[in-house]
Amino acid sequence: MLGLMQSQPLLISNIIEHAARHHPDTEIVSRAIEGGIHRYTYLDAGKRARKLANALGKSGVALGDRIATLAWNGYRHFELYYGISGIGAVMHTVNPRLFPEQIAWIANHAEDKVLFFDLTFLPLVEAIAPLLTTCKTFVLMTDRAHMPELSKAETKVPNLQCYEEMIAPEPDAFVWPEFDENTASSLCYTSGTTGNPKGALYSHRSTVIHALASALPDTLNCSARDCILPVVPMFHVNSWGLAYSCPLVGAKMVFPGAQLDGKSVHDLFEAEKVTMSAGVPTVWLGLLTHMKQHNLRFSTLKSTVIGGSSCPPAMIKSFQDEYGVKVLHAWGMTEMSPLGTVCNLKTKHLGLSKEEQFAIEVTQGRAVFGVDMKIVDDTGKELPWDGKAFGNLMVKGPWVVREYFKGEGGDPLIEGWFPTGDVATISADGYMQITDRSKDVIKSGGEWISSIDLENIAVAHPAVQQAAVIGVLHPKWDERPLLIVVKRPGMDLTREELLKFFEGKIAKWWLPDDVAFTDAIPLGATGKMLKTKLREQFKGYKLPTA
Ligand code: ADP
Repeated sequence: MLGLMQSQPLLISNIIEHAARHHPDTEIVSRAIEGGIHRYTYLDAGKRARKLANALGKSGVALGDRIATLAWNGYRHFELYYGISGIGAVMHTVNPRLFPEQIAWIANHAEDKVLFFDLTFLPLVEAIAPLLTTCKTFVLMTDRAHMPELSKAETKVPNLQCYEEMIAPEPDAFVWPEFDENTASSLCYTSGTTGNPKGALYSHRSTVIHALASALPDTLNCSARDCILPVVPMFHVNSWGLAYSCPLVGAKMVFPGAQLDGKSVHDLFEAEKVTMSAGVPTVWLGLLTHMKQHNLRFSTLKSTVIGGSSCPPAMIKSFQDEYGVKVLHAWGMTEMSPLGTVCNLKTKHLGLSKEEQFAIEVTQGRAVFGVDMKIVDDTGKELPWDGKAFGNLMVKGPWVVREYFKGEGGDPLIEGWFPTGDVATISADGYMQITDRSKDVIKSGGEWISSIDLENIAVAHPAVQQAAVIGVLHPKWDERPLLIVVKRPGMDLTREELLKFFEGKIAKWWLPDDVAFTDAIPLGATGKMLKTKLREQFKGYKLPTA
C-alpha cells in the first residue's frame, strides 16, 4: 500500500524558492571581488537566479550539461549554484588552487560547456583556454565597467561574455522545471592526492537531504537566527553544504570573497555580527595568530565548524577557553557531500568533568543520520567499538558516492560500503576518532603509529606554530616518525626541548626519532598539509637512530 502524501521530487530549486519566499529580507553580504561590500537579500538572489536560468536556457544549456565555475565565495557564485542546477544542468565547481594543467584536465574530463569565473582568475583562464577541448563559452562574473579591454583579452579567451550583461535583459520570473530527484546536480573532483582526480557527482536528492541533515541541532545547528560565514570555499564540496543549508533555514550569509587572511575574516565577523563559521584548521591558525597579536575578541561568534583535517586539541581549547567559541569538530570527504560525523556531547556526558568532556570533544564525533559507519581490519572483519581497536573506516548512506563520474577507478564499494581511506577508532558511544589516513600512518616494526596524535602533541607546545609527522625509512623498523616543525615567529626551541615535551604523553616507542625545523609546511589545494610533498622533500633523510 502506498502512502497518500504528495510526491514532490527533492530539488535544489525548492531551496532558493523557499528562501526567497519565506526569508525575503534576510541578507546575503559579500566582499566583492571588484572591491567594497555587496549586500542584497534572498528575494534578490532568487530573482537573479531565475534571470540566470533564463539566460542559460537561451544560450543553449540543456539538462545534464556540465557548467564550470572558478570562483570565490560570493553572491554571483551563489546564484550560479541555483541557476545551473535548477534547470537540470550540472554545477561543476573547480578548485582554482590546482595547477593550470590539472584544471584543464578536469574541465576536459567533465566536458564542461561553459566556464564562469571571477576577475581574479582571468590570467589563469587565459592560460588554460587553449587547452580546453569542450568549453566554448567563457563568462566573466562581473559588470561591464570591470570587463577587460576586449581587444586584449579576446585573443586569449574566445567568446568572452559579461555576467551582468548576460542576465540583465532576462525576466526575473521563471518556472523551475520538475524532473527526477536523482538527476545529477553538481560535480566536485577530489583533489587527487593519489592518482588523477575523480569526480563525485551529487544528485538533487542527495544534496537536499544532506542540507536538511547538516542543519540539525546536533550537526551544524543552523537556524534563521544565525549569521553564517563559510570560509571553506564554495569550490570545496559546496562549502561543506552550507551554500544549501543556509538558505534552507533562512540564515543570513556572509561571503568573504578572495580575502581569507586573519584580519579580513575577523573584520567581517565583527561588522556583520557573524554567529557561526566553518573552515580547515590552517585558516583558523591564521585567524588566531592575528587575534593574539592584536589582542582581539569575538563579540558575536558562537561556534565554528573545523574539519577537512584533524583539528589539534590545542586549537579546540584556545577557541573554547580563550574565546568562548564552541568548536564543532567535523569529519567528511568529497565523496560524502561531505558530512559524515560531527562532535556534540550527549546528555549523559553533561555531568562529566571538563577534562572528560574534552576527551570526547577532540574526537571527530558521531555519525549524522543518513551515514552509517564501521571499522574493519585488513581482512574485512568488523572491529569492536571500544575506542581502542583501530581499523579501516567504511561508510554508506544516501549522500555517499556509489561510483565516480564516468566509472573512473571501477567499483569503489566493498559489499555496499565505501572505504574512506581513513583509519579510525569508534567508542562504545559511537564517537569516531581518526588516527590517520591509511597512507600517512607510520608503520614501525609491524605496529602503527598515528601521525595525527604526534602532531597534536607538538602543536600544543607554545613555541610550535605548525607540525607534521611523516614516516622515514629505517633499516630496522621499516619506518620511524620524523617530526617537521615550523616555529612561532621570534620563539626559540631545540630538538631536545621539543622531544622532552612528549615524555609521559605517549608510549616511548612512539617518540619521533628526530625533529627537522623548517620555514613552511607545503599546503595542498584545499589548505591541508601536503604530506606527499613532505615525503619527497625528506626522502633519504638520515635519522640519528638509523
Ligand atoms: P581529498 O581526499 O581530496 O583531500 P577531501 O577534502 O574530501 O579531499 O578530504 C577528505 C579527507 O580529509 C578525509 O578522508 C580525511 O582523511 C580528512 N579529514 C576530513 N576531516 C577530518 C577531520 N576532522 N579529522 C581528520 N581528518 C579529516
